[in-house]
Amino acid sequence: MTIRTRFAPSPTGLLHVGGARTALFNYLFARHHGGEYLLRIEDTDRARSTPEAVQVILDGLDWLGLSPDQEPVFQSTRETRHTEVAHSLLERGMAYRCFLSPEELQAQRDQAAADKRPLRIVSPWRDRDLSEAPSGIAPVIRLRVPQEGETVVDDLVQGPVRVANAELDDMIILRSDGTPTYLHAVVVDDHDMAITHVIRGDDHLTNTFRQVQIFKALGWDLPRFAHIPLIHGADGAKLSKRHGAVSVLEFEREGFLPEALCNYLLRLGWGHGDAEILSRDEQVALFDLDGVGRAASRMDYAKLTHLNGVYLREADDQRLTTDLCRRLDLSPDSDASERIMRLMPKLKERARTLVDLAESARFIIERPSGPKDAKAAALLSDEARGWLRALLPQLQATDFSAAAVDQALRTFAEEHGLKLGQIAQPLRVALTGGTTSPPIDATLEALGASEVTSRIEAV
Ligand code: GLU
Repeated sequence: MTIRTRFAPSPTGLLHVGGARTALFNYLFARHHGGEYLLRIEDTDRARSTPEAVQVILDGLDWLGLSPDQEPVFQSTRETRHTEVAHSLLERGMAYRCFLSPEELQAQRDQAAADKRPLRIVSPWRDRDLSEAPSGIAPVIRLRVPQEGETVVDDLVQGPVRVANAELDDMIILRSDGTPTYLHAVVVDDHDMAITHVIRGDDHLTNTFRQVQIFKALGWDLPRFAHIPLIHGADGAKLSKRHGAVSVLEFEREGFLPEALCNYLLRLGWGHGDAEILSRDEQVALFDLDGVGRAASRMDYAKLTHLNGVYLREADDQRLTTDLCRRLDLSPDSDASERIMRLMPKLKERARTLVDLAESARFIIERPSGPKDAKAAALLSDEARGWLRALLPQLQATDFSAAAVDQALRTFAEEHGLKLGQIAQPLRVALTGGTTSPPIDATLEALGASEVTSRIEAV
């Protein structure tokens, strides 16, 4: 049997980081077992499912390296098939037309509220003859759910979960306007896509009991289910905007690398011993559902940022430079881009995000308009300016390589009885406006002779 998983997002305008993790688990599980990973866009809510909202999902998955193995299936294109299947259930007596009026439904709701019990619709049309059907009411189609016994789902993460069938009502599979309900569409699609494992958020667990009824009524094989815990914020509430970034695009904008985000999301709720940093290949080799925990995990932005820094230091310099050029609005074949590239090994040592990294490179393209803060201003004392004036010709005598610059600074400091920092710090302020930058020799090398000269002269 070929393992087939699917990620089935509804286009909402963003790809939520929880969805990204669901996609990752589906991807890794399929890869681990040599199977296929599919994408189904659940776009039956026409108002929300704009082409832009769909594109956000496709772009997000592409960025994460989680594009599906086949063209996505659009649920909205399958309506005829969903309707057909609902009618086949009707013909076989597994479903029935229900003519409950809005008033009758309201009465059941009121009664349930008065009795303080959960609403469970009971339709008299389960047993009533169609000849008694009122005119003028378009019926819905309800599944005839068994009333005895229980439904057990042997969930691959949650273990066996059960519900008494008496608690399930005869759910609607086709609305009175003839459109299929979500619960029904998902079952038909999962069957037709030959999905063997449904891996999704545990907020869908209650749907599963109902979907199992539909599978059974149709005589179709059940897929295995794995309901993974949701991601919460630090306070234990469901992750939302007030906790920080939630959309994948936001993480991209805030300067996270996709592989760092994936690694973080994987470790959030799945573990394999102490392994923290895992390449995609290692993830595929090690991932299985038995390593997924049952408790909700908490998003820790600080931990993600730390991990991102680790990934940044390992990342290819050219790739980082290309990203920085985009963030700094710089042509990739500009002189500045080349300078940034040369300085990249030093720049990336300190940065934790690509945004930090871009900011730390900004001095290359923008001349400082003066000291950035009081600390920087204090370093640029009259005495220090005097040293810089004296230093400049000595620098100009070098080839501006880091090694030569370093030597010139050391010699200068020695000659003037200064500590290296006493000359390096004012020099840093003159060149960058601030008190932190990559090592001073590398900073000078990256800026080059004429830029260094102009900036020193300016102060
Ligand atoms: N479309 C559902 C959602 O976005 C997922 C349904 C499923 O995975 O079965 O929450």
